[in-house]
Amino acid sequence: MQVNLSEIMNRRNETVSQSVPIEFEVYKRCGVEYPVRECSEVNVTLCSHGVKRVLVKADAKVVLSAVCDRCLKEVELPFDIHHEEEFDFSGDEHESAEDLDEVSYISGYDLDIDGMIFEDMLLDFPTKVLCREDCKGICRVCGADLNQGECGCDREVLDPRMAAIRDIFNNFKEV
Ligand SMILES: [Zn+2]
Ligand SMILES: [Zn+2]
Repeated sequence: MQVNLSEIMNRRNETVSQSVPIEFEVYKRCGVEYPVRECSEVNVTLCSHGVKRVLVKADAKVVLSAVCDRCLKEVELPFDIHHEEEFDFSGDEHESAEDLDEVSYISGYDLDIDGMIFEDMLLDFPTKVLCREDCKGICRVCGADLNQGECGCDREVLDPRMAAIRDIFNNFKEV
């Protein structure tokens, strides 16, 4: 959802607050889709201070649905977003345009709330998604969930062809 900043920016020392819905239902990152399981509205406060300067504060909570990188169990990824940023439209046109050009969620005087929340979540995104810090993952031989207990497979040997050769050696030893 777009919030237009042109009105507030021309007033002096004024604050307006509003609640804006989050409109994306799926969060996409590195080709993976994470459905939004829960989200609050975004509480946006716009503060005009100084000429053509607007301080934007936004708070929101988003919970994504993800899977553990190790055991593939479904996990919740909560995000607590607090955004505070000042936009300065006062500079000469060329200068300020260049500055604000770098902000992907500002277009003209429109602030794209979804885009802003999206970027905040990207910064907060964990490098690894784990159901718990010490998740043991799944057995790559039989697929058992190792958090439930040891399955007894020999996982030392990675390559099944190597396993076959080792079995032949073991058979020789037994003879
Ligand atoms: Zn796990
Ligand atoms: Zn196993």
